[in-house]
Amino acid sequence: MPTYRDQALVLRRLDYREADRILTLLTRRHGKLAAIARGVRRPTSSLGPALELFAQVDVLLARGRNLDVVAQAVRVPGPRPDPDPERAAHAALVAELADRVSEERQLVPGLFELVASALAEVSRDPEPRRPAAWFMMAILQLGGYGPRLHACAVCERPLPEAEAGFSPAAGGLVCADCVAPGMQEVSVRALKVLRVMASGSIELYRRLKLEPPLLAAVEQVLESQLEYHLDRRLRSLRVVRQMRSA
Ligand SMILES: [Zn+2]
Repeated sequence: MPTYRDQALVLRRLDYREADRILTLLTRRHGKLAAIARGVRRPTSSLGPALELFAQVDVLLARGRNLDVVAQAVRVPGPRPDPDPERAAHAALVAELADRVSEERQLVPGLFELVASALAEVSRDPEPRRPAAWFMMAILQLGGYGPRLHACAVCERPLPEAEAGFSPAAGGLVCADCVAPGMQEVSVRALKVLRVMASGSIELYRRLKLEPPLLAAVEQVLESQLEYHLDRRLRSLRVVRQMRSA
């Protein structure tokens, strides 16, 4: 069987047969793909320890008829996925989003690097919500549906320095004249945070003081924009929300 090497992130794992697993891998050069790791659930498997969920690995893959086969896997040095439930829930959110925005074998330039750094940050940031929120904005922008933050998404006029509405269907913030009943309200502070995120300046973002209610308002905008574009609720988001309200 012809083989190829790549770097991969383990986005999903599914137990298969007696001791195998089917993995969803996001690779650096071949996009997202499914691969089978044979015998990986046996304690003696040399692949098992490397192929943890959300881990980054160097893999040797053999082309199979249906699924490619993991022939070798070596962990890339770096932070290990953390079993802490809050970190794990945010890592799951990052992985689910990466899975949902990518098609099999279609390389999205920049996606691997973005997901790798988000998973690393989520496993070491004292507050995993922050890198997860940053990732949500980055993934929206990568897909070309980042929310409009400078002009009203309905009438196109520049937004004043004031509270605004938010409409995922319109694709962004909405001025006071266009706001409709029931729309989410976005404070000036939340708007400013969103603009910093959209500018891509992670250094500035890291310096922002984000109390939980402010971060929650920012998350709400990003989450509703994502769910609107993905046309479906995100399972991992439900877990994260339950955790926050607990
Ligand atoms: Zn307007």
